[in-house]
Amino acid sequence: MTVGVLALQGDVREHGAVLAALGQAVRMVRNPDDLGGLAGLVLPGGESTTLSMLLESSGLFDPLDEAFRRGLPVFGTCAGMILLAGEVLGGRVDQRVFGAIDLTIRRNGYGRQVASFECDLEVDALGGDPVPAVFIRAPVVERAGADVEVLATLPPSSNGTRRGRPQPVICRQGNVLVASFHPELTDDRRLHELFVAMTEVERG
Ligand code: GLN
Repeated sequence: MTVGVLALQGDVREHGAVLAALGQAVRMVRNPDDLGGLAGLVLPGGESTTLSMLLESSGLFDPLDEAFRRGLPVFGTCAGMILLAGEVLGGRVDQRVFGAIDLTIRRNGYGRQVASFECDLEVDALGGDPVPAVFIRAPVVERAGADVEVLATLPPSSNGTRRGRPQPVICRQGNVLVASFHPELTDDRRLHELFVAMTEVERG
């Protein structure tokens, strides 16, 4: 079985390389014909407003929307996370999202002064060592619905935004996994491993 990487814009190659390093067959997804038989799909980071427009012009938005509703496992990172959310604050008025996970997201929510930063995250679900996380103009989770499992948070002190509460940065709801940082830019493959495992459960 094959896992797809949405290949319209952004960190496409990097995600493909991690999946290939895990021994996973990978297909680049550029139009609706590329969707047949996929076990899961990665939505890379990039620019969510641009991705939203390209999803429309490529004809991919509606078939993907339907596939996510049917339960196709999906892993969205950064802009990919924004696209999967239920509500986006600070987006373009015509920016469409899939509403596959019950999150309210604020684009570029960490502010200009800390547009990019790195830290180590404790992630119980991944066990062992902390997960290195690279944040680049990252979205902030303003609200997570009751059905959303928060797998990691950023302590309020570590990001310089002086926000008073821990920020969810890895979340899961059923077959939807999201991260507000870029796991494809570090050597730690555990989040991709978790996602591949999600696609394998689905394959039976
Ligand atoms: N700020 C970007 C957006 O709104 C996301 C940044 C990223 O994916 N690194 O889409």
